[in-house]
Amino acid sequence: MNWNRIVIKLGGAIILLFLMVLFPLGFVIERAFSQFYYQELQTEIEEQSSHFAKMMEASDNPQIPYMLEIMGEFSKTALYIVNAHGKIIVNSGIPGLKVGSSISNDELHTLSQGESIDKEYIGSVNNQRFRVFGTPIISQKQFYGGVFVVSSVKAIDKSLGKIRSTLWLSGIGAFFLAVAFTYLLSKKLSGPLIQMEQATRKIAKGDLETRISPPSKDEIGSLAQAINDLAVDLQKYHQSRSEFFSNISHELRTPMTSIEGYAKVLKEKLYESEGEKEHYLNIIHEEATRLTKMIGELFDLAKMGEGKIGFHFEWIDLSEVLDSAIQKTKWRAQKKKLAIEKNIESDLPFVYCDGDRMVQVFINLLDNAIRYTEQGQISIRMWKEKGIIKISIEDTGIGIPNKELSFIFERFYRVEKSRSREFGGTGLGLAIVKNLVEQQEGTIQAFSDEGKGTRFEIMFPISHEMKKEGEKKG
Ligand code: ADP
Repeated sequence: MNWNRIVIKLGGAIILLFLMVLFPLGFVIERAFSQFYYQELQTEIEEQSSHFAKMMEASDNPQIPYMLEIMGEFSKTALYIVNAHGKIIVNSGIPGLKVGSSISNDELHTLSQGESIDKEYIGSVNNQRFRVFGTPIISQKQFYGGVFVVSSVKAIDKSLGKIRSTLWLSGIGAFFLAVAFTYLLSKKLSGPLIQMEQATRKIAKGDLETRISPPSKDEIGSLAQAINDLAVDLQKYHQSRSEFFSNISHELRTPMTSIEGYAKVLKEKLYESEGEKEHYLNIIHEEATRLTKMIGELFDLAKMGEGKIGFHFEWIDLSEVLDSAIQKTKWRAQKKKLAIEKNIESDLPFVYCDGDRMVQVFINLLDNAIRYTEQGQISIRMWKEKGIIKISIEDTGIGIPNKELSFIFERFYRVEKSRSREFGGTGLGLAIVKNLVEQQEGTIQAFSDEGKGTRFEIMFPISHEMKKEGEKKG
């Protein structure tokens, strides 16, 4: 038997709780009833005894004790009367008490002091229990004896016995009901959990199509939904991982094939002129450079994926960072005769980010802008708008078709495969840029008009505190 099953644990806990409530409750009910019955009986015999004593006190008829005896027999009240010497002069049917016998001296003394007697008496037949209440008869300060009213507790014990057995029966009934209810509830709880366990194991074994239909809208239902979401994420991850690997091998193989081919041409001296040789060497150099770049970017992406890339956050003047990136790429724009237009708002607050990583981001975007623009200009803007620092890099280049715009931040995604060949890209730059920006709490968006140009916009929110501190430093 597996004691660790939820049915056992939950069931055990509920039953224990149930017993913890049921036992004291039964005890209290039983106590309340018995107290009530005994109190009733006590009041009754007290009242009767004092009533008879008063009758005796009020009358000087010597026959009154015998009249009381007859009354007692009629009203089924058991009583006995003692005289001033403690001798029983009348007994209306109490077994074991003889007329003429005496009560104890202690009792006689108590009565003679004007105090009543409250006691239990065990009869000689069947050990029957009685409650006894004796009231002294005192008239004009003269002690005449006492009247004892006796009542059997047999009826009370019988009623209490019935109540006890009813309590036991209902307790046992409720207990079995609780067991059945607990069993059903635990089954209802553990059923979906077992189903989820099996589904999770299947997912872990690689069956990523496995889904659970959420059993309810409660926490168990959301757990099932979370497992489903996890399976979907895993499926996407597997898919993108295999796509990634097939992309990598393809992307690495393409430049390697060129290098291999042209190196072979050179080795076997299959060129016809020095110019041709120079051309092949240039291709080999370009492809090797592209390979090195790609390997570096892949390495960066891998580190980002594992969250291993470190950031050195500090309050920086992002306009200076942008300026330095422009300086580093300017020569390339000049080479293509592209104008660079710069419009940076003055007195901008500092931004809390990593300066070196931001240089990398800006260089990547500027490089792309220059690479995909043949004529016109590159416009760079930086300004503050509604608590957000915005940087835009816009070109007048070939643009990106609208339907492809949402994919350009994916690894290896290129608008046309031929483009990178032509322009020497790797398809990894924007994926890195997006990752870097987002890890610094920023966002990046691309807007484009095919054939007219492209604009990349980076946004960094300035939180209240950041703004204050940024402005202070600025
Ligand atoms: P690549 O190294 O190929 O440029 P990126 O990830 O930087 O890779 O860019 C992905 C693709 O997005 C590019 O191949 C290119 O087709 C397109 N792209 C990026 N920037 C621009 C731009 N400024 N103008 C036109 N197309 C662009």
